[in-house]
Amino acid sequence: MKLYNLKNHNEQVSFETAIKLGLGQQQGLFFPVKIPNFTPFELSEILKMDFTTRSTEILSKFIGDEISKKKLYKNIKKAFSFQKPLKVDITKNISCFELFHGPTLAFKDFGARFMAQMIFSLKKENESFTILTATSGDTGAAVAHAFYKMKNIRVIILYPKGKISLLQEQLFCTLGKNIITISINGSFDDCQDLVKTAFDDKKLKESIGLNSANSINISRLLAQICYYFEAFSLISESQRKNLVIAVPCGNFGNLTAGLLAKSLGLPIKSFIACTNENDTVPRFLKSKQWKPKKTISTISNAMDISQPNNWPRIEELFRRNNWNLNNLRFGSVSDQSTKEAIKELFKLGYTSEPHAAIAYRLLSNQLKKDEYGLFLGTAHPSKFKDTVEKILKNNIALPNEIKCRVNLPLLSHNINPDFNTLKKFLLEK
Ligand SMILES: *Cc1c(COP(=O)(O)O)cnc(C)c1O
Repeated sequence: MKLYNLKNHNEQVSFETAIKLGLGQQQGLFFPVKIPNFTPFELSEILKMDFTTRSTEILSKFIGDEISKKKLYKNIKKAFSFQKPLKVDITKNISCFELFHGPTLAFKDFGARFMAQMIFSLKKENESFTILTATSGDTGAAVAHAFYKMKNIRVIILYPKGKISLLQEQLFCTLGKNIITISINGSFDDCQDLVKTAFDDKKLKESIGLNSANSINISRLLAQICYYFEAFSLISESQRKNLVIAVPCGNFGNLTAGLLAKSLGLPIKSFIACTNENDTVPRFLKSKQWKPKKTISTISNAMDISQPNNWPRIEELFRRNNWNLNNLRFGSVSDQSTKEAIKELFKLGYTSEPHAAIAYRLLSNQLKKDEYGLFLGTAHPSKFKDTVEKILKNNIALPNEIKCRVNLPLLSHNINPDFNTLKKFLLEK
């Protein structure tokens, strides 16, 4: 697989290089040179396959020239070794597609675990890496669990002290072994700045084999394509004719993967790009002007992003396919309406959380008579227990993944947002 840098089309790299670099020169995103495609016959064949076999076929379309199907199958099997996504019917023509049955209870497990397996399998026997990443919550947990106990890979996760929920902290700061967590006396931006500074330090980068694991890594997007096919395989012939999928968006990785699935030949009629009040993209689609505002805090905090870093990939995909951006549906939802949507879903017998509820709100508002709609369930409601309990005045049970961690001691270190302190730490530990 060849990929080019969106900021400099002359920089072309292999999948192996792209996965290790994360970003190209000038922080440019990598994008596939060839966009593969399934014929209608191939499509009907793969829809009959089991999740792992089908995912191997899909990813093989992109990276089959670099990684054999056999090796890919093995890695996918290990990466997706948890309960498959579930389709839960809400109304006659709306279902939730739940992607949160992995070890850290959010869809990020798919991307993070596939990336980890690929990095591990592409690594030479005696080579060692340090994965350094900053998190505002869900990504850190997914990355930590994905690399947990992998030999010669050390993972260092920075997060803003006191700014993630205790539950989130317990999920990844209690693992130990090769997972080192550091709380930073500062904001999420301070954490990201420290990571950026570390990557700019060439000497440090080489001496500890620094590698990124952030959400722009192409391997994460590729992995996420697979569950859109799974969703399609679970719905009836008539529902397949007019399928609309509503995606809760933050950095727009999930939506990029969905659009790649469509580009591969999966006949999804339409997507709805759903945001909270951090609505740079909805405003852009309306006015054609890109005007990010200051990020505001909402109850769907994984979507509190005003400069979504995957957006250039979406524009490129539309351009390459001659698609019209006017066909992308969109909308933004306030906290107040999100709360009402959670209550509405609860009345329908379904307990949800803020991110999925935003997608449900826009889907049920925009769905036409002959259409069938899926909204993506991106996280388990217990991850947002406090918020959901306040809205529903109802108790949310903790699933085992969290229950087994809440009594374990937090193993995090704590430092000030100072690069030299971090550097010393990276070199000594
Ligand atoms: C990360 C996240 C999102 C946003 O996904 P993107 O791929 O960044 O658009 C939505 N919901 C939850 C629960 C998340 O953790």
